[in-house]
Amino acid sequence: MKKPESLSEFSIISRFFSDGMLADKQKSSNILLGVGDDCALLQMNNNQAMALSMDTMVAGRHFPEQAPPEDIAYRAVAVAVSDLAAMGADPLAFTLGLTLPDSNENWLERFSRGLRSAANNFNISLIGGDTTKGSLAITVQVHGLLPENKKILRSGAAPGDTVFVSGYLGDAATALAVLNDDASVDDETRRYLCNRFYRPQPRIALGQALLPIASAAIDISDGLLADLGHIAEASGLGATIYADRLPISTTVAKLVDDKKAINHALIGGDDYELCFTASSSSRETLQQISSRLGITITEIGEMNLSDNVRCIDQSGVEIQTDITGYQHF
Ligand code: ADP
Ligand code: MG
Repeated sequence: MKKPESLSEFSIISRFFSDGMLADKQKSSNILLGVGDDCALLQMNNNQAMALSMDTMVAGRHFPEQAPPEDIAYRAVAVAVSDLAAMGADPLAFTLGLTLPDSNENWLERFSRGLRSAANNFNISLIGGDTTKGSLAITVQVHGLLPENKKILRSGAAPGDTVFVSGYLGDAATALAVLNDDASVDDETRRYLCNRFYRPQPRIALGQALLPIASAAIDISDGLLADLGHIAEASGLGATIYADRLPISTTVAKLVDDKKAINHALIGGDDYELCFTASSSSRETLQQISSRLGITITEIGEMNLSDNVRCIDQSGVEIQTDITGYQHF
């Protein structure tokens, strides 16, 4: 018998969860945005919008089973908050769905410490959740607020817009590769890479500062090519990015060759930096934001009328990567 073809994560979402599940017109008129972007948006009475997003982390898939509980908790909240940042929303509150194999007091104590530290750093309150027994998995639903009539969607990019990214790309993928290997890396390098993977910094302040500037934004969870691909698709455009402009940290440059560094930056994922588009006339304002917030912002390419996202090298040859971003199916 022929094995049924497996559906991709995104076709599952669009085929089975995108249509026909809205309440009646009156109630659903308050849904400004449903399935398909970094967050859903609900209209509030005072003309603000509430941004909502949920992320699940499964042991053995999103993090090693034996990872430090403080880090697991911190990362689960950071990753969810990153979707708020990508919309320009201000984090307000989160709920926690926790599935645990057993009730180990020491583990829970440490998990709770990581959770508290994330809640404090991102200025967001834990307001509820659910606790069950099973294989270790953590789901965080975040709620954030957007000022009146302001938001950054994936769909707003225009042809000719410049593509920017925050921070450095490929750190988290390098962390996974290097930390799984017992390659001898010094303590400082190990600490930097562990932090970049387990303690991503959702770009909350940057997202909010981009509200009047960016035409589109996404957080890079699945790799630059895949995530910029979502902006391109939602905006009905394509994009060209330049390999020699990709921001690579000195740590990654020291550990792996150029080809690998570029590959990690393009398809690695897990960096939770923002990729956004804006008109080239915003360059100066962006430089000011960059120095005010102490976050590197790099111009890496531009949106165009093609129907794909490609990365080219200095001689204009397209870089070939193994896959385009992480997909669960
Ligand atoms: P992100 O990487 O930004 O967290 P995802 O790729 O997980 O976003 O999801 C893409 C879109 O599909 C989002 O709008 C999300 O809310 C929606 N989505 C994902 N899974 C489901 C589901 N099971 N039911 C409804 N919507 C879903
Ligand atoms: Mg996202």
